[in-house]
Amino acid sequence: MWRSAAAVRALRGGGAGGAGAPRAASGAAAARLRQRLENELEDIRGAGTWKSERVIASRQGPHLRLAGGGGGIINFCANNYLGLSSHPEVIRAAVEALEKFGAGLSSVRFICGTQSIHKDLEEKIARFHQREDAILYASCFDANAGIFEALLTPEDAVLSDELNHASIIDGIRLCKANKYRYKHMDMQDLEAKLQEAQKYRLRLVATDGAFSMDGDIAPLREICQLAQKYDALVFIDECHATGFLGPNGRGTDELLGVMDKVTIINSTLGKALGGAAGGYTTGPKPLIDLLRQRSRPYLFSNSLPPAVVGCASKALDLLMESNAIAQSMAAKTQRFRSKMTAAGFTISGKDHPICPVMLGDARLASVMAEDMLNRGIYVIGFSYPVVPKGKARIRVQISAVHSDEDIDCCVDAFTEVGRKHGALR
Ligand code: PLP
Repeated sequence: MWRSAAAVRALRGGGAGGAGAPRAASGAAAARLRQRLENELEDIRGAGTWKSERVIASRQGPHLRLAGGGGGIINFCANNYLGLSSHPEVIRAAVEALEKFGAGLSSVRFICGTQSIHKDLEEKIARFHQREDAILYASCFDANAGIFEALLTPEDAVLSDELNHASIIDGIRLCKANKYRYKHMDMQDLEAKLQEAQKYRLRLVATDGAFSMDGDIAPLREICQLAQKYDALVFIDECHATGFLGPNGRGTDELLGVMDKVTIINSTLGKALGGAAGGYTTGPKPLIDLLRQRSRPYLFSNSLPPAVVGCASKALDLLMESNAIAQSMAAKTQRFRSKMTAAGFTISGKDHPICPVMLGDARLASVMAEDMLNRGIYVIGFSYPVVPKGKARIRVQISAVHSDEDIDCCVDAFTEVGRKHGALR
């Protein structure tokens, strides 16, 4: 029987707005919720902490085209440290994995979601970090959410740097261990807390290897010495280190010569290692075996899609073949840091591709970032509550695929904009 389009919409319950139109839930509770959410959103706008998302109309890379705008934007705010996000071999590996292994597993790992490529990648990650074994997660956020609860009990203690990433903080919240927060990179405070925690069965010191807001590197040598003294284990989150810190890009532990003293590493596949997505834990085999049995984000979430596995696997191959890409990024970082310092800016951190241009004032950071974009340089201003009050900054991230001209353009634009706003020393 033929029905009119209006009748079909009515049958589907589409109403006058058409089958695809959004429906507002009715009822007093839904109305109260809507009002509450709108108030909260207004508060965020009022506080000046609203995060808007710019839409990119091209691939991730050093040069972007923004939707609705022109091209020719030089991008300095991705974690694409090694420029592998759009590397032709990485893309080809993803396409091959997609064709051979399909779009996805429609399953968690332990039911029917493990393919040979997942096992191969885990083996490769363990080899890269020189650890016994590795386990994949959908993200490093998940790896951090899943480890502390699986590993620590009320008999244990965890000691965490106060500026650790949100996912470490959340992961620690989920566990029942006794929690200590030590002052950022403050070894005296860590020692005092380790002394307090002597009464527990196990002590785990947890720190970012490199801190993403400041580009500073955890004092891992000192942390490992204290861990040895107080019979503790060390966990590091290497999201901003894997692939490029250290002589062979193994990370902070290699850079600081403590590869045999750090017990557990969590890191991401979503930054230097191809930039697609995914995270992992690597460390002692019994720990990895236990995570496969107990870690909730692993047990109750889909396997990594084959294309994503293909990207990361190829990125690791490229890094294990040569560290030329990492060296090229280090040279560009050095170029940017020294030219900016000479121009009269203060750059926080040392030798890290995260180069925070310290400005202090939140409004200045936001206005300068906007002016930089008008000059074709994409950078982001950060202010309270993301960083402490009075420490607003523009974070610049260097990539191996920036050319020297890109770096110089960025420095020139900063100098011009900084002069305009009186931000130079
Ligand atoms: N840990 C740190 C230090 C990070 O910077 C991030 C990402 O921003 C994560 C964990 C989470 O990584 P992923 O994007 O893989 O979830």
